[in-house]
Order: sequence, then C-alpha cells, then structure tokens
Amino acid sequence: MLGKVKKLKNTLFENLSPLRFALIMSFLNLVLFHYPFFKFVCQHADYNDLNGTLIIVSLVILVFVANALVFYILCYLSKYVGKAILVTFFILSSIALYFIITYNVQIDESMMGNVVNTNKDETLSFFSYRLILYVLVFGVLPSIYIFKAKLIAIKRKNFFTTFGLILLSMFIVLGINAGNWVWVHRYSEPLGSLLLPWSYTVNTSRFYIHKQKQNRKEMLLPDAKIKDDDKSLIVLVIGESARRKNFSLYGYTKNTNPLLSQTKGIHIFNANSAATYTIAGVKAILEHKSTSRLYECLPNYLSRTGVDVIWRTNNTGEPPTLNVKKFLKADSLSKMCVGENCGYDEVLLAGLKKQILESKNNKILVVLHTSTSHGPAYSKKYPPRFEVFRPVCTKVELNKCAKDELYNAYDNTIVYTDYILHAVIDTLKEIKDYKSTMIFISDHGESLGENNLYMHGVDMSFAPKEQYEIPFIVWLSDNNDRRLKHLGTLSQGYIFHSIMNYLSIESPIYNEELNIFR
Ligand SMILES: [Zn+2]
Repeated sequence: MLGKVKKLKNTLFENLSPLRFALIMSFLNLVLFHYPFFKFVCQHADYNDLNGTLIIVSLVILVFVANALVFYILCYLSKYVGKAILVTFFILSSIALYFIITYNVQIDESMMGNVVNTNKDETLSFFSYRLILYVLVFGVLPSIYIFKAKLIAIKRKNFFTTFGLILLSMFIVLGINAGNWVWVHRYSEPLGSLLLPWSYTVNTSRFYIHKQKQNRKEMLLPDAKIKDDDKSLIVLVIGESARRKNFSLYGYTKNTNPLLSQTKGIHIFNANSAATYTIAGVKAILEHKSTSRLYECLPNYLSRTGVDVIWRTNNTGEPPTLNVKKFLKADSLSKMCVGENCGYDEVLLAGLKKQILESKNNKILVVLHTSTSHGPAYSKKYPPRFEVFRPVCTKVELNKCAKDELYNAYDNTIVYTDYILHAVIDTLKEIKDYKSTMIFISDHGESLGENNLYMHGVDMSFAPKEQYEIPFIVWLSDNNDRRLKHLGTLSQGYIFHSIMNYLSIESPIYNEELNIFR
C-alpha cells in the first residue's frame, strides 16, 4: 500500500518529464474547464449517429492533445516560465469558467473589449463568494500542484521526436474528420469562445490588434455648413442595456414609464441596435454610415462645423477619437451636483441648464451617456425611492435570481430612466429661447434569463431579440414646428442624419432617407 502511494507520488510529483507534466496539465485543463464546451458540442452534434459521436470523440482528443503540445513546448523551453504561464492560465480560466457558467457569456473579442474597458465599480459589482470558490478550487489548487511538481530536463532529440509524434497524431484525427469541417466552421465562433485558455488569450490579442488599427487618425468627412440662424437645441440620451420590451410606452404590462406616459410631445419608434455591446452600439449611433472604418464621429463633425457640443458621461465605450471641448465625466460633474442622488445617472444633469444658457451658439447638441440598466447589479443602479417593484434580486449571480425578482430589479432601472428623461424634458422646457428636442436611444438590449442567457454581448448572428430590440423615444417641445415621419423599424444610423437635419446642417454626406424629421 505504502509502496503504491510512493509510486503514485513519484508519478505525479517527482522526476516529471516535460511530456508527462504537459499531459497531466492538459488532462486537468480538459476536465476542469471544458464542461461548457462539450455541453455545447453535445447539443449541436447528434451523438446518436456515428458521425456525431466521431465529432465529440475527436474534439476530446484534439483539445487534449493540442493543449498538451503547447504546454509541452512551454515546459521544454523553460520550466519556470512554463509553470508561471500555466498558473496564470489556471487562475484566469477559473474566473472565465465562473462567468461562462453563471452568465452564459461568450468569451469573444467584443467581450474581452468589454472586460478591458470595464471600470473599477463595474468590476466590483461582479464580486461574489462563489467566484472566490471557483478561483480557489479551479485556479489555486492546481497552481499549488504546478509549484510542487519537479520537472527534469530532457534531450533535444527526444523533444523533437515527441513533438513530431504528437503533431502526427493530431493530423490523423483531423484527417479522419475531413468531412466535418463544415460543422466546425459553422460553430467556430461559439466553440472558440468556450475553449479555455485560448478564448480569452486570443480574443484579448485580437481586441488590441483591432484597436491599434482603429487608433489611426479618423477620416474627416467633407466640410459642412449651418444653413440658418434658428436657435435649435437637441439632447441625445444614449441608454445602457435598455431593452424595448420593458418600457410600458411600448406595451409592457408593468408601468415602467409613469412620467413619460403622461408627457405631451412624446413619440416612439421601434429600433434595432447594430450590435450587442457598448462600444459597437455607441459607434453605430454616432457614425454617418455602417462601416468598420473610423470616420469622423457626429460630435466631432458638428463641433468642427460650429455647433456647440456638450458631452456628459457616466459610462465608458466612447469612440477613441471623440474630441469635444466640453467633455465632462461623472466625477467632475459630481462636484456641481447637490442632493443624495449624485452617485447615480442624475449626476449627468448637474448644472446642465446653466451650461446650456451660457452657450452663445444658435445650435447646440448635448449628449448624455448613461449607464442605468447595466447589470448585473441592477438594484444598485437607481436611488432607493425608485424601487417601485419589489422584491428585487440583489444577487450578482443572475442565474440564482428568481425570475420575478430579476425583472423587478431591471424594471426599476427603467423607472429611473423614465425619471431622468422626464427631468431632461423639464430642463429643456425651461430654456424657452431654443426650439428643443430630446432623443433617447439605447446602445443595445439585454437578456434577463430568456434561453438561459443573461446580460448582453452575444454575437449578432446568434443574438436573441432581447439583446438588440431597443427603444427610440423622441420628445418635441411645444414651440417646435418640426414633425416626425411615419417610419417602420429604425436602425441606430438614423441618429446621425436626424440630428444633422434638426440642426440644419448642410453636407454632401447627409442622407435624407435616414432622417426622422419631416
Ligand atoms: Zn452597453
């Protein structure tokens, strides 16, 4: 018995060749982190038929062998560096696994973009004891083993022989599956997003590569000019994760719009977002056409044309080129904010009227970038008096929330949004010199447990409608002679041209088809 234990200890801890160590690591990586991956595979490959079984078995072999190969190379090159990288992988994968299981997220490029753009408060809002448990069990325990394992060096010739044999075995498995390429190609995005540690490693790199490309100078649009001297003021409120379905203005049964539903001059359109995450949603709202290129965004363009542009934000994800003189973040706004609600999106209204009245321009654009409905801590995004629907879920592991309580918490964020929009309208009503209007549009929608999905960020080709059906609400002041067209479902692209039209901007790139005003 004692002999057996000693032998096992020797096999697992002492005198480990890089190959044996890599195989153990790859096995652990496979069993600890690939439950969601193979769950997806089993749901989409028919395991009752022979070919489906072949796909599943081949993927098990490939994931195991390919990871073993990478770990083998790392540990052969340097056992210290190899071990350090493996520890990092296990810790990060444990966190990734928690998010995949708890929120059903896809770890793709846009998700990694969100992660690196997340601010401190948002990060803290994800904290939970179960997350710590995941890190301890799936991250720290294997790391202790990695530290303890004693690796031995091997000859270069042996390394290359083993390397060649592993590679050959992978080619054989790939060859047998030649007919299954279509299947793999079809599901490559979701599969890739569940493959740990590669989903976050590759997609973080992809995000930074694309960002670097985008950081090139913006392409200027052709010069524009202001056509008249009418005093026009437009406030664009960009919502965060506000989905259309939960606005009573759009027929939701709970009264989430107590104020706007009583407000004269409110008009609603149906709209779909271009993406399911903030950076892309905001980009689509501010660009003159749908493009992957970086053209001058609306605030920059209008600012250059002579419009007074004010940008106030309590969110992140603004275009990297955004360049307006009056750019104010929540922390600087909070200095002029009074009252107990300054820690919420109301801070965006602090001193707004004064700032508008100080303007000497005939044309003013104000953008308020809110964060009200951002999850998972919905119940922390509004002041206590807006908790009109109870009880609310206060857990950040949304899949643990009762559906009603999750909806209540989310619906209260819509009630608070209703209040903020109404407060904007009240402010505009007090500024009588200008003909004013307000447009509210969301960056994207939100899942609240439908199909077991939470939050947002699912690739558009798979996204459920909750993640892209957004509200598009317009208010026109009494003294306004503008009317609205009757239109079907709008895209976010309507914002750019409607604001151009409203402020009487003449430009060769103006597109009347994307204008909501008559
Ligand atoms: Zn967003």
